[in-house]
Amino acid sequence: MNGHLGIGMTSQRTRDRLIQQLQKLGIKDQRVLDVMRQIPRHLFVAEALASRAYENNSLPIGQGQTISQPYMVARMTELLIEDGMPENVLEVGTGSGYQSAVLANLIPRVFSVERIRPLQEKAKIVLSDIGIRNISFKHSDGGWGWKACGPYQGILAAAAPAEIPVNLLEQLEIGAKLVIPIGVEGQQVLQRVTRTESAYEVETIEPVSFVPFLKGRA
Ligand code: SAH
Repeated sequence: MNGHLGIGMTSQRTRDRLIQQLQKLGIKDQRVLDVMRQIPRHLFVAEALASRAYENNSLPIGQGQTISQPYMVARMTELLIEDGMPENVLEVGTGSGYQSAVLANLIPRVFSVERIRPLQEKAKIVLSDIGIRNISFKHSDGGWGWKACGPYQGILAAAAPAEIPVNLLEQLEIGAKLVIPIGVEGQQVLQRVTRTESAYEVETIEPVSFVPFLKGRA
């Protein structure tokens, strides 16, 4: 990165402004804010979009997919860790790898599943370039979860299915939480499911807008 971009639009001051915005929008968890202040989000988007990487917006990452809005990344992470830091977490929908980076800076072991191979390959390179080593990747339909590495103390999905996938529920440890957008386009809500000894407790958090949760690999 050179020229004005390097010292301007992607500078620490620009990042700090995003963090202030997240605080205004109600993000309170200092651990999440601190991690997001450090992560170079501009490296997770194409160079032509780097100057917009610290705006609170989703951006295209190719293959019809988007890097999630920073507020949404912060909110979902906050909901996942609120009652205690998980030891391991399953992420469905690696995409650019930005949310994975946030999780990997907080949680010892991250397992991330993506159905679109080229996105996964790109994410792996960026995450490795910035020195993140505690993420395992799988090219798969996250509707299956990743049973061999579970059960999980947390699961986070970045794409919206019509209904909560049963496999994800089954791969939660007792006491663990699943944070997931649910519903068809235009009518999605963010939900948090907590597995108890005998049931799954569902909280509806707020209306959201995510790409659809698709079947199969690409
Ligand atoms: N957190 C990512 C979000 C990317 S968008 C980021 O900030 O970059 C959601 C991602 O979920 C897309 O990359 C999409 O390909 C992926 N996805 C959708 N359905 C999926 C499924 N069933 N299994 C795995 N990944 C899926």
